[in-house]
Amino acid sequence: MLPYLEIKKPWQEALSNVITDPKELWALLDLDPLLLDKAYAIIQRFPLKVPRSFVARMQKGNPQDPLLRQVLPLHEELDHVLGYGHDPLLENAVNPLPGLLHKYHGRILVTLTSACGVHCRYCFRRHFPYEKNNPGREGWQKIFDYIRGDPNINEVILSGGDPLSVSDQLLKTFTDELILIPQVTRLRIHTRLLIVLPERVTDEFLKWLMQLPLQVVIVFHVNHPNEINAEVIQALQRLRQCHLTLLNQSVLLKGVNDDATTLIRLSETLFAHGVLPYYLHTLDKVQGAAHFEVDLTHARALHARLCAKLPGYLVPRLVCEQPRKLAKTLL
Ligand SMILES: *Cc1c(COP(=O)(O)O)cnc(C)c1O
Ligand code: SF4
Repeated sequence: MLPYLEIKKPWQEALSNVITDPKELWALLDLDPLLLDKAYAIIQRFPLKVPRSFVARMQKGNPQDPLLRQVLPLHEELDHVLGYGHDPLLENAVNPLPGLLHKYHGRILVTLTSACGVHCRYCFRRHFPYEKNNPGREGWQKIFDYIRGDPNINEVILSGGDPLSVSDQLLKTFTDELILIPQVTRLRIHTRLLIVLPERVTDEFLKWLMQLPLQVVIVFHVNHPNEINAEVIQALQRLRQCHLTLLNQSVLLKGVNDDATTLIRLSETLFAHGVLPYYLHTLDKVQGAAHFEVDLTHARALHARLCAKLPGYLVPRLVCEQPRKLAKTLL
């Protein structure tokens, strides 16, 4: 008898075949070898992880490429910067169960997994104790009980890590139980993986979405229009057939998208493919990400430019996240 072999989906292959060695990234993009040695020290703290298809959207020989900047380990990450912390949002305080964050009225955030498709150097979760926060299958039951215990909760946000780094089967197992709780009417998915690995939009995934008796909102995370290539456009087209609400959140990042032309192009490109801009976040003050900070005056000026140039529905809300607030803070 032939041994049973689990056949990996192409996206799972791509996810296990990501670039983690700086040497390879440097070689693919013709980067300055002088910066290579330092990169190894930096990724001790937060590993390098970039899918090949994302690297293919970067310009060779350009260390300033806006997609590369988001994933490139730079020695600035080692600087200790005053005012930057390890848990800037005090998420440990709103974490009643492993894998569950309950911060705002009526909605909870579930971290299904700690894995992401890409490691973004500015990520505020780079120090989050994920290992302790993976609910696992046993933890799900407690999460469902928690929801039943608060009748106000009508929306569940799948987050992570990236919730789409888990299999379609696991997603379905989760929602098969979730939909038995009648108060829950909406499912939201926060994902960057669909953007960096658009082949994640499998037939099985679409089928799952289509059959869910919930309103589904997908919130992508795209920071720069160059991230939206032909494969992403095709994935978005497929998703749109499921009649979902598609939104995008970005982080305002120095050297990536801190100019009005880029942000306008981002909004226009997203909308051309059926996605509405939702939030433009200012950077969370996490140690190691200070070199991405855009000062508040400049952020407000950029937002004013967007308001002056775009229809209102293409202007993302400029927000920051503050601990102990009832919602994200509008700036
Ligand atoms: C951002 C966030 C949400 C969602 O907030 P919305 O304003 O509804 O998009 C929910 N829970 C947590 C913990 C969050 O950080
Ligand atoms: S995909 Fe999201 S959670 Fe993962 S590293 Fe990037 S910003 Fe952080």
